[in-house]
Amino acid sequence: LLAGFTLVLLAVASATGYVLAGRAMVPITRYFKRQQEFTADASHELRTPLSILQASAEILEEQKQQLPPLHQKVLQHMKEEIVRMIRLTEQLLALARSDSHPPHSGYAVSSLRQIIRTIVERMKIPASKKNITIAMIGPAADSLKFFGDADQMNQLLYILLDNAIKYSSAGEKIMVQTFRSEAGDMVIKVTDHGIGIPAEDIPNLFERFYRVDKARSRELGGTGLGLSIAYRIVEMHGGKISVTSEPGKGSTFEIVLPESSIKKENNHDQ
Ligand code: ADP
Repeated sequence: LLAGFTLVLLAVASATGYVLAGRAMVPITRYFKRQQEFTADASHELRTPLSILQASAEILEEQKQQLPPLHQKVLQHMKEEIVRMIRLTEQLLALARSDSHPPHSGYAVSSLRQIIRTIVERMKIPASKKNITIAMIGPAADSLKFFGDADQMNQLLYILLDNAIKYSSAGEKIMVQTFRSEAGDMVIKVTDHGIGIPAEDIPNLFERFYRVDKARSRELGGTGLGLSIAYRIVEMHGGKISVTSEPGKGSTFEIVLPESSIKKENNHDQ
């Protein structure tokens, strides 16, 4: 009887836009807003103690030689986990922001090619540690400008390249390709020759905290949030992100940005 009553109540609640929180009935929009605010506040509050922990670990690092081998190992683990926590809080904050910010706020015209070139140059450093090369392929003289959030586009490419590096073996090649489709859309493809993704995981890949191999992702410093942020960024720019992959052969992530997010040079009209 109680279960039946709860079901009826839930049906009424969802039909009227209300959700049960504690004892009160709270409108769903207000409930979600509170959740977003909580995530944003919690991530923000976590930053300070994490920075302090990081600074403390660095002080210990300076005295590393004086520590016994076991303590050196513990210190190394601590440092890795602190970095992962910092990343996690930053990513949660990014998601909370993207959930609460109105779309198109902070949009401006910038060179997409320049954004890609800058991030590729930056990612060549971690890639070189695994002897991985990153090639950039696209029209040499690209007069196309991108109308959107340059920081977010930067973050999107960072996530895709970071994954491509993480899930590739040493010595592999990564390719970033840009071109315009026949329909006039801007296409960006990030291809790696890494471990690939099983077909059954692909539909869930862009969900928050979804990881194909949790242990592997953890070991590589992953959080399972990167692709959900990538998805949100592309979605907010009116585009689409998709993946084709073959286990053992590699993956290609494709972003299609609509023509409306592309501007010809010297045309700053929106
Ligand atoms: P993570 O922080 O775990 O990398 P992401 O949200 O960025 O989280 O990615 C989710 C999962 O998708 C990863 O854990 C990994 O299993 C898989 N994945 C993402 N990119 C690639 C890639 N380029 N090659 C193989 N697997 C990938």
